[in-house]
Parts: sequence; structure tokens; C-alpha cells
Amino acid sequence: MKNFRIGGKFYGIIKNMYTNAHSCIKLPSGIIKSFPIERGIKQGDTLSPYLFNLYINDMSEVLNKCSDAPTLGNIIVGCLMYADDLIIISETSNGLQNMLDRLHSYCLKWRLQLNIKKTRTMIIRKRQSSKQVSVSFKFGNDIITSTDRYSYLGLLINSKGQFSEGIDCLKKKGYKALYHMTGSLYTGLTFSPEVPIKIFDSTVRPILTYGCEAWASEYFKMLLKPTQVDKAPFEQINNKFCKYILGVPSRASNFTVKAELGREPIFAYICSQVLRYWIRIQDMDMNRLVKQAYLSELDLYKAGKTSWAGFVFQILKTINFDNTKTVKSKTEARQIKCQIRTAYTDLYYDSNYASINHKSKLRTYVTFKNDNNMEKYLQVDNVPQSWRKLYCNFRISCHDLQIERGRYLKLAPELRICKICKLESETEQHFALFCPSYSHLRQNLFREIRKIHTNFLNLDHHERFKFLFNSQNVEIIKLTMEFISNAYTLRKEKLLNIA
Ligand SMILES: [Zn+2]
Repeated sequence: MKNFRIGGKFYGIIKNMYTNAHSCIKLPSGIIKSFPIERGIKQGDTLSPYLFNLYINDMSEVLNKCSDAPTLGNIIVGCLMYADDLIIISETSNGLQNMLDRLHSYCLKWRLQLNIKKTRTMIIRKRQSSKQVSVSFKFGNDIITSTDRYSYLGLLINSKGQFSEGIDCLKKKGYKALYHMTGSLYTGLTFSPEVPIKIFDSTVRPILTYGCEAWASEYFKMLLKPTQVDKAPFEQINNKFCKYILGVPSRASNFTVKAELGREPIFAYICSQVLRYWIRIQDMDMNRLVKQAYLSELDLYKAGKTSWAGFVFQILKTINFDNTKTVKSKTEARQIKCQIRTAYTDLYYDSNYASINHKSKLRTYVTFKNDNNMEKYLQVDNVPQSWRKLYCNFRISCHDLQIERGRYLKLAPELRICKICKLESETEQHFALFCPSYSHLRQNLFREIRKIHTNFLNLDHHERFKFLFNSQNVEIIKLTMEFISNAYTLRKEKLLNIA
């Protein structure tokens, strides 16, 4: 401490705290006799991490003196330290062994103990060469086990320097958390999806996106092709969650479930986190490692190579932000973060809508849905949950009307005839507007709607269909839900009779 010019009363107090320090252990049978503590720092004391840092401060100097330590800018990066976690890096095997030897003497001198069971070596190279030699490293007399993946600060990195396995691990953890969350939601109640969405975003999403600032650039392609984003591990959990709250089967289209809930892809949030980090780096001192790492990424970008900087610039391009400009204020930073979330979400929706054609499963869906807001029917109170589920499944074509069944049987659309009236293909429009089997229910529905919207019967059938499924009027939504539910029950009965 005196090396750091800490003296006087403050030094005296700390010295006093650690002179004649004793500890004891509490067992179920009582407290055992206290014993003196000769090394270490007090557990749980707020001062402890600082004292530990002071204690091992010169370790990095010792390790960085080795000749083969890599550099970032002008900074030698022989080791990375975080609390009692230590990574030592060298560009050669001799260099690494040399560092281990130095570390060994350092530990002997300062009475530090290395947990050899938790220590691993990993050789990182971009391509696995055929002439791979296995080198073993020693710490004192102990041989250190080698590995091809290592978890650093909770994120798994493989020996090619990739995060893909780490991201899969996050997906598994996220899935567990989702499972836990859905298990504790009371499902008998129809509540607005806003509550579970809030819970998901504050409990599951942080798990899925942990460390995303570092790994998101592995999904560069998804910036350019947003329709691909649903394949990403983190997005799969988001989709699972959306399907769960809507009560639709897992085969339901990923895009429609997000569209019904007005939900953004998680990747939009990830992009905003990356930009937040980029803005922070801009303000950093040149002597920070992260800053130097960024500058070297920038060099890669300028040389036309794949880089993190290139990824950030592509995100900035999405919102037409000039990447040579600096972000001046916190307000501006916040605006940029919001902008990217909206911009990417819009891109996701637009490209998905654009990919739907007349043959697509979702051709009906696009006849009434064309925005990305949460549907009003999901926020309507006092309707049975079964109505809402059925209505949602009907809207997104996740039902067993012949038009969908025929798709699996590979029948031409005009051959997917309604089994009850046998008049024409059993499409969603046929079911809702034309099938004579439900005409009494339909007459009732139309009569009620006319009381609210007097012009309804003057609409042609395209407009009527759109009106029924696009209305923002709570009464009309309720009436339509009730009609779908009753007609569906009737259909089931009639089909049973035919069979
Ligand atoms: Zn029919």
C-alpha cells in the first residue's frame, strides 16, 4: 500500500483491521473456536476487492514483460484479470510456458495458490490445421489440462475464437428461464399479453442477449436479410414465447405470431445494445484495451475485411447515420438506440410481408393485417380464453380447414373442397362469409354489426372480410370471436356426423 502512497490514519486503520485477524466457523452444532487468519482478505468486506487488486497489481507487470505477449495498439496484453479470474495470452508456446514459469515464482513469492483443477490451456487458431501438434504446458510440476472451449466471464468461446457454442448455451439457459416463467404464470386467466411480455423482457431476454455486444457481429447476414433472423437461437426462444402466450402450436409461422403481438425481433434490441456500446467506446480513453481493440477492428474494416466495426457501420447505415460523426449527447444516443429498434423491426416486417405470395400459407393473413402493432383483440377483457385462441389460430391460418389440410395432402387449392357444403374450397373466406352451414350464426353476426356499422352490408366480400378481422371496435371484435368459436364448434359436430 505504501507503494501506492497510501499512508497515515487510513493505512493505520486497514493495518489494524488485518493485525491479529481471527475467524471462526458456524456449524449447526454451534460456533467453533476461532483461529488466526494469516493470509487472504476478509470475505464480504467492500474493501476486499480493492485490497486484492492492489496485492496482485504487479502481477500483470511481471507477465507482460514476456516477449511473445500480443499487443493491441501500443498496449501489451499478456494477461487479462477480472477479480480472481486470470487469463494469460501468448503468441507462441514457449512464450506461454515462460509466462507460466514466471507466474509460478510470483505465486511462491506472494504465497498465492493457483487452482490447477480450474486451470486450462486453449490454443486459438482460425483454421484447424492438419499438422496440429499437441503441446502441453506445466505450472510448476503440474501439467495443465488443455481444452477446445473455455467459458470466460460466463461466455463460452471455442478454439476458433467463435461464440456460436456460447450462444447456443445462452439459448439453453434462456429456454430454462422461459420454462420457469411460463410455469409460474396462471394460465386459467385471460390477461393482456403486455404483462408476460414485460416479464419475458426483464427475465429471459437478458439471458439470451448476455454479452451480445461482443458476439452479435456473427449475425451480420441477418442485418441484410431480416427474414432469416427467426433461425437465430435467441429469436427461436422469442418465437416460442410468442406462441405460448397466443396459445398457438409450434408450427405456427414465426412472423405472424410476432405480428399479432406487435413484437420486435430480439435482434432489433441486440442492434441497439451494440450501438450503445459503440457510443461508449467513442468516449473511451486511448489507454483502454477495448478502445484499442476497436481501433484494430477499424483497421480491418478499412482493409476491406470482416470486422466488428463493419458490423456497426452496417447497423448505422440502416438508420442513415454517418459513421464518421460522433454522438454528442445522451439524448442523441437514446434517439439512435430507439431509431435502430424501429428501423430494424420495420425492415423485418416489410421483408416478411414482401415474401408472401398468392400461394403462401399467409395469403389470407395479409388481406387484413398490414401493420406491426399489437392486435386489439389481445387486449379485450372478459372473453373466454378459448375464443381468443381459436380466433388467433384462425387469423394466422393455423387451423384444419380444408385449404390447410389440402396443403399437407398436396391437393391443388381448387380441390380442397368444404366437406360440409361441398360447394367450393373451404378457405377462411368461405368459412366466415359463405358456407351455408353457419348461415344462421352469420345472419346474427351481421345483424349485430349493422347496429354498430350501418354501412356493413354495402361492402363487397373482400371488404367485409377485412372489416371483420381488422376492426378496432371492441364490440365487433367480440362478436366476430364469438361467431368463429360457435361456427367452429358446429363444424366439428357436422364433420363427426359425416364420418
Ligand atoms: Zn362449406
